[in-house]
Amino acid sequence: LRKKRILWCGEASYLSTGYSVYQKEVLSRLHATGKYELAELAAFGDISEPAQRWRTLPWKFYPVQPARGDRAGWEQYNQNALYRFGSWRFEATCLDFHPDVVLSIRDFWMDEFIERSPFRPFYSWLLMPTVDAAPQNRQWLATYANADGVFTYSDWGLEVLREQAGDRIRLLGSAPPGADAALFTPVQDRKAHRESLGLDPDALIVGTVMRNQRRKLYPDLIDAFALFLRENPDLAQRTYLYLHTSYPDAWHIPELVRDSGIAHKILFTYICRACGAVFPSFFRDGRTACLACGQAKACLPNTHHGVGRDVLAKVLNAFDCYVQYANSEGFGMPQVEAALCGLPVFATDYSAMADVVRKVKGFPIKVERFLHEAETGCRRALPDNRDFARQLAGFLRLPASVRAKHGFAAHRAARQHYDYDHTAKLWEAAIDALPLREDWNSPPRLHRPAAAVPAGLTDEEAVQWGMVHVAGRPDLVNSYTALRMARDLALDMTPVNPSAVYFNDLSTLGLEQTWLSFNRQNAMTELLKLCEEKNAWERRRAAL
Ligand SMILES: [Zn+2]
Repeated sequence: LRKKRILWCGEASYLSTGYSVYQKEVLSRLHATGKYELAELAAFGDISEPAQRWRTLPWKFYPVQPARGDRAGWEQYNQNALYRFGSWRFEATCLDFHPDVVLSIRDFWMDEFIERSPFRPFYSWLLMPTVDAAPQNRQWLATYANADGVFTYSDWGLEVLREQAGDRIRLLGSAPPGADAALFTPVQDRKAHRESLGLDPDALIVGTVMRNQRRKLYPDLIDAFALFLRENPDLAQRTYLYLHTSYPDAWHIPELVRDSGIAHKILFTYICRACGAVFPSFFRDGRTACLACGQAKACLPNTHHGVGRDVLAKVLNAFDCYVQYANSEGFGMPQVEAALCGLPVFATDYSAMADVVRKVKGFPIKVERFLHEAETGCRRALPDNRDFARQLAGFLRLPASVRAKHGFAAHRAARQHYDYDHTAKLWEAAIDALPLREDWNSPPRLHRPAAAVPAGLTDEEAVQWGMVHVAGRPDLVNSYTALRMARDLALDMTPVNPSAVYFNDLSTLGLEQTWLSFNRQNAMTELLKLCEEKNAWERRRAAL
């Protein structure tokens, strides 16, 4: 019996993004079983980088990026903003590797090409979408329903899918990321640790580690903290808010700090681009003099000059408690890392946060109300500032020994719930339960498209008929693409977006839309393209 071939579609596993780390941890454990042949199709993967980090991987590596200097490749790569996620290399990779199973763990719009590939009958697909809000768009649900198994990042996401489409989606449970318990661990002497960072050892510090993005509610967090200070003059003297975040980025931090009236109570992490020193400070603009080397090269971290994960552990260990103040989260890893460092966690009682904050025995923050988001149709939560201010005061008033007990409970719970050994076993069991699909060496199945659409069909029936008889893709009859096409026929219009893909209009890359008229003839033209694409790939498969 040959080994199953597993292809992971994600981001290069030598990078340090959340997707990369998960992929590397799980693939390493699958590799250690010796049961599979493994490969990754790596977004942002670059075989021509001088460090050649891909060479250290013990599995096959297919880069999505063209090599440096490959002019024609880059020209093609840049034609479509979605290519960077892997769609333009997927079929060629399949022909070389012949996967039995394809795995993916990203947002719907990054991975939906796996559903509409002409090679879909040849592999099983296990998917873990980032369900970060409810309700999930019904077009995403159609895609999830076409996967052979679906994991979620959190139990909360699992419940959302179960409620909306539990009868149609093959739900496998939640497979959350593990956390690095060796790196994120409580320091023995928090006071001495504070002093080493130049912080007051007797201060009370409530901190957060969130990228400066729209859904991270920095303005509201600062408002809530200002409210806490006003209502608790006895604690105000020695309590600080610590924001480990990036700038420049989504929120205009200087204005938020200036307008808050509490600039002297908010700390930030600065990192020196000259000597690498890292130090906390009150806000000193986007760039300031480095405390170590004196050069004006100290900046807030951003995606280009981030801080290492060891530094992150040091920053977290300077806090007394941690807060995640976001309107929604796909997961929210820093909550788990904070808990591992022995910090009690506060978090908005919505989306994955509602699950994580309970698992690490933290304190959910009430939702004041929900906002409906036009782009996705999902609800986003607004945490209740008064509730957070009240809960924070209650916690900080507890005797230090009681606060320490909460921290220890958080640490223990995080170790118990977020463990990659356990998570990798879930993937392994799901892979082993899948039957082998069609043989990659079977004769090509070319389709001859039907010429005319029968009269008397509704729009939806016309699309379904066309999927089978024009496109030759019965597997896509209930797909996102078919639903989308029926919708466009009902509207008489189709959106044209900058990424220029008919099949995917839900990416954030396509938010600014113009519309073209759309009729059945246009629909059949698109279906014919699907047929031609499939026939072309089938011919290549046979030639190989
Ligand atoms: Zn410096």
